Amino acid sequence: MIRCKDIHKSYNEKEVLKGISFDIDDGKIFGLLGPSGAGKTTLIKILTGQLDYEKGEAYILNKAVSELNGNDRKEIGIMMDQFGVYERLSCADNLKIFADIYDIPKSRIRETLALVGLEDAVNKPASNLSKGMRVRLQLARAFLNTPKILFLDEPTTGLDPMTQKLIHRIILDKKKSGSTIFLTTHNMEEASTLCDEVALLNEGVIVDSGSPKDICRRYNHQKKILIHLVSGNDLEFAHDRNSAEKICRLMDEGMIETIHSSEPNLETVFLELTGRKLED
Ligand code: ADP
Repeated sequence: MIRCKDIHKSYNEKEVLKGISFDIDDGKIFGLLGPSGAGKTTLIKILTGQLDYEKGEAYILNKAVSELNGNDRKEIGIMMDQFGVYERLSCADNLKIFADIYDIPKSRIRETLALVGLEDAVNKPASNLSKGMRVRLQLARAFLNTPKILFLDEPTTGLDPMTQKLIHRIILDKKKSGSTIFLTTHNMEEASTLCDEVALLNEGVIVDSGSPKDICRRYNHQKKILIHLVSGNDLEFAHDRNSAEKICRLMDEGMIETIHSSEPNLETVFLELTGRKLED
């Protein structure tokens, strides 16, 4: 459904994408993870035909991005910051503009606003929306033409945890209804919750990719068992036979409250691979 092969892109002779390759299958959620400035938005712009690139190949809907026509574009929904909202227009009128451009039946406007939980804000001016509602309006715009592919650039940045969860549910519902979703984030929890596959992008290079679980397993070198005792103390054991006996003894004596194995998460893997934090 989406394919990149050795994409290179420079701005003013500075190379910001240095040979990006990946494939995204139909119906999957793919997350591009990387800190600010890694090149995520640049890649979305290339894949959606908004930006030229110097080298490589980019395909969407089984076509080279450069060959997409008006009908193909109707199959693509984009949510990114620079596609702002018209402040003085109501939610419904914001969507009406796009319904007119894409020749979408007006009945879709209310349906789509309901889909993102904005049914009570149909006539509210965009300037009166909270940050979370504004994001939902931007999502509604991306969903309006029921696209096969959705590009969501940092869809939850700056939102409170409750609203983030709501947006996650909306994104997962879209996946259930068959959309393929490309999202960028620097939030590793979001990536673990939502994505079937992720690619870790640092300074224009994909440093690893795969399912979040597989990536974390690959970097699970320092296997440890963490025990919290009833007394309130914490103990750390190596993941081996010798520890098993000691842990058994603690268990027999009723001293253990919880046991966890410590596995890396995407944040610690990224740090190990790049020396940088995703939230940098
Ligand atoms: P991200 O979305 O991961 O934060 P971007 O794709 O926005 O990263 O930016 C990648 C790099 O390209 C950054 O160093 C940024 O400053 C630079 N960049 C982005 N857009 C432009 C532009 N129009 N002109 C020059 N440099 C740019």
